[in-house]
Amino acid sequence: MSAQRLWIKNPRAVFTANSHDAAGGVVVEGVVIRELVPAGCEPTLSCDAVFDASERVLLPGLINTHHHFYQTLTRAWAPVVNVPLFPWLKQLYPVWARLDAEALALASKVAMAELLLSGCTTTTDHHYLFPQGMEEAIDVQVDVVGELGMRAVLTRGSMSLGEDDGGLPPRHTVQQGETILRDSERLIKRYHQRGEGAWLQIALAPCSPFSVTSEIMRDSAQLAQREDVRLHTHLAETLDEENFCLQRFGLRTVDYLESVGWLNDRTWLAHGIHFDESEIQRLGRAGVGVCHCPVSNMRLASGMCPTVDLQNAGVAIGLGVDGSASNDASNIMYEARQALYLQRLRYGAQAITPQRVLGWATQGSAKLIGRSDIGEIAVGKQADLALFAQDELRFSGSHDPISALLLCGAERAEHVMIGGKWRVTDGNIVGLDVPELISRHRKAAKKLVADI
Ligand SMILES: [Zn+2]
Repeated sequence: MSAQRLWIKNPRAVFTANSHDAAGGVVVEGVVIRELVPAGCEPTLSCDAVFDASERVLLPGLINTHHHFYQTLTRAWAPVVNVPLFPWLKQLYPVWARLDAEALALASKVAMAELLLSGCTTTTDHHYLFPQGMEEAIDVQVDVVGELGMRAVLTRGSMSLGEDDGGLPPRHTVQQGETILRDSERLIKRYHQRGEGAWLQIALAPCSPFSVTSEIMRDSAQLAQREDVRLHTHLAETLDEENFCLQRFGLRTVDYLESVGWLNDRTWLAHGIHFDESEIQRLGRAGVGVCHCPVSNMRLASGMCPTVDLQNAGVAIGLGVDGSASNDASNIMYEARQALYLQRLRYGAQAITPQRVLGWATQGSAKLIGRSDIGEIAVGKQADLALFAQDELRFSGSHDPISALLLCGAERAEHVMIGGKWRVTDGNIVGLDVPELISRHRKAAKKLVADI
């Protein structure tokens, strides 16, 4: 028997992230989109069920390309509310070093639940803390991803350059290169899925120039090439980082990236703020992607990603909420709104449209993680969809529904489908007891900072 066909019928508005007309909705069959229905038409395929979307705005599921789930345990922690990146990290490292498996599982679940409720269907996470007893941190996250039914790229982060060797993190939070590589290889072999419709993927993600050795950068790039997985790291986030690279390596950040074999289309960077014109061109030629994290960049006063210059040079731009100790929300729609406003300060109102920003959060983000099967509404793409109602007070009196999502501040999807399955219905995550999760997560968060 063939899979059931569902017509998501006549949305109030639809953003496809391409030039296709789906004004009459989409037909979902199994895990994929089978047909786009033009305005005023009916599907040519016979459908078993109809979902009336006439009061909802339809989007491709949003894609978050940078996060540190564990940081939901240290949101709005008073000692780091008003400091920039380096002192922020130095005060947080000892707290984060106390992370255990239960706390990480709860933190990951909270972050993903928050993302899901904001219309996110695919997320990445950059986990780079593996204190003693937490060697299987990524395995812990794999279980949570499965429970929530999201698509995920879990990046095996790493820190190998401790304070004693001139790095930023304390010695007890770093691992040996060999340990990192062995675990990276194990995770790829065990969990990395390939091809269209992959639910879970692994990428390699040495943390940043000031927390890993050049050797682990080089070795990770080689391993990623051999295993055909993607590479991710923080780069050009702050001027402190740029100065660190100049002092330690005698190189600017992009030169450093090139020197360790990362200047290629396997790589996507978080932040990408402090580039000069020639570096922007080089990144574009190499096919590197950049994840823009506006809230984190504003909160830590790091600077502003030159998104349009990067795009003009051929760099794909995606969107990320970044870790919850520097955002402190995991809401991808909220992030898109902030991106719109922040980028308008640099490029003006005409260049930064709601459609452009939603494009970053969908198709752009998909490119960053090397996916062509998600991030847009088109025939054959995965049925990852988000529907937003606009019946709240904040939308009353609004006219253009797509613009209203960002301008009026949509924060919560009403329905979210991933791979043809409803994961959020009527604003609730299917099968998740949110109050219970919050209560357990709050306890774990309190414990983590106790007596620090
Ligand atoms: Zn980050």
